[in-house]
Amino acid sequence: MVTIDGSFGEGGGQILRTSLALSLVTGKPFSIHNIRAGRKKPGLMRQHLTAVNAAAEIGQAAIEGNRIGSQAFTFKPDMIKSGNYHFAIGSAGSCTLVFQTILPALLIAGEPSEIILEGGTHNPFAPPFDFLEKAFLPVISRMGPKVDAVLEKPGFYPAGGGRFKVSINPAGLKKIELLERGDIIHKAARASVANLPVKIANRELKIIREMLEWGREQLNAVNVENSQGPGNILTIEIESENITEVFTGFGEKGVSAETVAKRAVKSVQEYLAANIPVGRHLSDQLLIPMALSGGGKFRTLSPTKHTTTNAEIIKKFIDVDIAINEYEQNRWEIELWNG
Ligand code: AMP
Repeated sequence: MVTIDGSFGEGGGQILRTSLALSLVTGKPFSIHNIRAGRKKPGLMRQHLTAVNAAAEIGQAAIEGNRIGSQAFTFKPDMIKSGNYHFAIGSAGSCTLVFQTILPALLIAGEPSEIILEGGTHNPFAPPFDFLEKAFLPVISRMGPKVDAVLEKPGFYPAGGGRFKVSINPAGLKKIELLERGDIIHKAARASVANLPVKIANRELKIIREMLEWGREQLNAVNVENSQGPGNILTIEIESENITEVFTGFGEKGVSAETVAKRAVKSVQEYLAANIPVGRHLSDQLLIPMALSGGGKFRTLSPTKHTTTNAEIIKKFIDVDIAINEYEQNRWEIELWNG
């Protein structure tokens, strides 16, 4: 039985999701304690509990301790069962994070799967749907499996009510290397508002025009019609020859549209200046598929605590070595190989 201290490193929900994902693919049971111990509301919240229960259903697992607020549980998976699933969080909790938990098992399962997820699709501190669709899943598809995601209804925090559908055609994962970004082919910024004045979107795009000096044809203001609650999100997409990256600004009460846009622009500028292919979020999310493919290498920005923590948790389940090195100032290389 693998034992995980949930307060290790980053100490949040990612330790839990990575452990569930890898327990499913390796068949190794695990127990976890101190779940989200340092957070304001420790233990399993709705989004985490949905991820635990979804993993248990897909892995036909025996599980003890899966309750809201629980700070410890044990998880003993059986065979992975691909097929049609529907997971609803029942709050605005992020359904892209639930998806992150169950995807690795379904990528390498025997049969295709169709998943419907309901909850938040555009939450702060989680991959927004657009990132999943344009940045993360294309890399997965390049590794072999074919994964298509369709947003049926956006769900913004705090109202939620979003829904997306994913079809997964599994295949063995091929090793890949992402070392060069290549030339930029396309750049676009989309400022979306739901049940809020479109002026907010226009103010965000004005910042993009001024700071990044992009033309009007690269800027798009969208009034989202089918959202349950209010929301504002700014996505900036950089499509290069070898990779597409997506940077996001989340509108928040009490934060000006200009500040939301400036924060997102800062991450774009940092990414472009470093001239590397993989941004910070994609970096922590690529570790699991690369570890499952038996190795790989990519160049990225300085690692976050999510990346270093994920690397340590992965090594508890899989015999893999992970080296994280700064090869030039502000340019990092992460390499994985079979231990
Ligand atoms: P945690 O904070 O432990 O729940 O993990 C959050 C996960 O969401 C990590 O994998 C982050 O890389 C990812 N994430 C957070 N914000 C973004 C964003 N703006 N774009 C893409 N991924 C994100």
